[in-house]
Amino acid sequence: MFTYCPSCASTNIRFEDAHVFKCPDCGFVYYHNTAASTALIIDSGNSIMFVRRGKEPAAGKLDFPGGFVDPREGAIDGLIRECREEIGWTPERGALSLFASFPNVYPYKNIVYNTCDLFFSICLDIPPEKMEKMFSPQQKEIASIVFAGYDKINLDDIAFDSTRAAADLYLKLR
Ligand SMILES: [Zn+2]
Repeated sequence: MFTYCPSCASTNIRFEDAHVFKCPDCGFVYYHNTAASTALIIDSGNSIMFVRRGKEPAAGKLDFPGGFVDPREGAIDGLIRECREEIGWTPERGALSLFASFPNVYPYKNIVYNTCDLFFSICLDIPPEKMEKMFSPQQKEIASIVFAGYDKINLDDIAFDSTRAAADLYLKLR
C-alpha cells in the first residue's frame, strides 16, 4: 500500500503482521485495522433475499444487502442505513438478530481491506411476490433483487467467502 513512508519518505517502511506499517527511520506507525461490515439475511419463510451486485468487486454475483460501518457508527445503525440506501427499505431494529460473523478480504482499487463481517437475520412473514414491491434497489450498486428458494441457492453464485459461509450455515441451521 505504501512504497514510501508517508511521514519521512523513507523506502525502509515495512508492513508487519498483515496490518501494521512501521518506518524504522522516523518511527511512523500506521495500523491498517480490520474494518467492520454488516449484512442482512432476509428470510421469507421459504426463500432468502439476495442482491445481485451491479459493480466491482464481484459484479453480477449474489450478495446480501449491507456494507461497511462508518466511523462513529454502531453496527446495527450501519446495517439499517445500508438497507435504506441499497434497497430503499428500513428494517425494524427489534426484529434484527445477530446470526454469525466471518472474516473477509475485500480488494478495492488496489488496496486490500480485511473485514470482520457481521451477519444479521430477519424473518418477514410476507410472500416474496409482495415483498419484491417493498424494495427499491439503488440502481448504481445493485443490478436486481433475487428471491432464491432454500433449495435453489447455488453457493457458487455468491460473491464473497464470508457471505458464502454465512449462507451455507444459515441453510444448515434453519
Ligand atoms: Zn518514516
